[in-house]
Amino acid sequence: MTGSVTVAGLGPGDPHLVTPEVTAALAQATDILGYVPYVARIAPREGLTLHPSDNREELARANHALDLAARGRRAVIVSSGDPGVFAMASALFEALEAAPHHHDLQIAILPGITAMLAAAAKLGAPLGHDFCAINLSDNLKPFALIEHRLRMAARGDFAMGFYNPRSASRPHQFARVLEILREEYGDDRLISFARAVSTPQETITTVTLGEARPEMADMRTLVILGNSATRRVGRWVYTPRSAQGAA
Ligand code: SAH
Repeated sequence: MTGSVTVAGLGPGDPHLVTPEVTAALAQATDILGYVPYVARIAPREGLTLHPSDNREELARANHALDLAARGRRAVIVSSGDPGVFAMASALFEALEAAPHHHDLQIAILPGITAMLAAAAKLGAPLGHDFCAINLSDNLKPFALIEHRLRMAARGDFAMGFYNPRSASRPHQFARVLEILREEYGDDRLISFARAVSTPQETITTVTLGEARPEMADMRTLVILGNSATRRVGRWVYTPRSAQGAA
């Protein structure tokens, strides 16, 4: 049997948002690896071994998948959303960099619908012009770098999607993020909090930066900040496609 490692994105939560390609890979898998809540989304079946692990064990998980593949198993590492967006695809290549003897293994990365795009679709079209995505967790980078990138993106008048905005272990940083954004933009810009998008717990709220409070975000929230032209139309939020030149 030829072993393989597939890194698959499960989308934001709704089973209808899992691609047919990912569904087929899951059906072929002998082993599924991933962070506990993501592996919990996979139905157990005979011949399938589930390997849930902690979210800080990404490199160990990637190495485990490579070892399974080398032994002829079909290992699938699952991520929420898209596996290339602040997730396991990079961790796999990091592990591969240190393991030249595994370079001939069969490897595939299967895209998924990332939280930012699922949230944007629910809001309307807030990312209709140029945008960027920033991970607000300082787990793998210093907070000073996050602050620097925020300011640079703000000066470019990008709309922004923020992943990992606020967790119990670092509750104050998001307050600082909002402060920086107000310093750069003033109070009027629209900011949306999309929580648990495409699940039964979904909530979506849009306010101005002046009204935004840190408690509006948690680890299940994707935050979208508009650019200078982003506006409401009825109950929707959209950003026009034309350039505004307001940098
Ligand atoms: N690979 C994932 C992102 C992993 S980082 C993706 O492409 O979506 C984890 C962060 O993603 C969370 O802190 C949250 O900001 C966001 N997120 C993931 N699923 C979400 C959902 N259903 N609704 C809102 N935000 C979500």
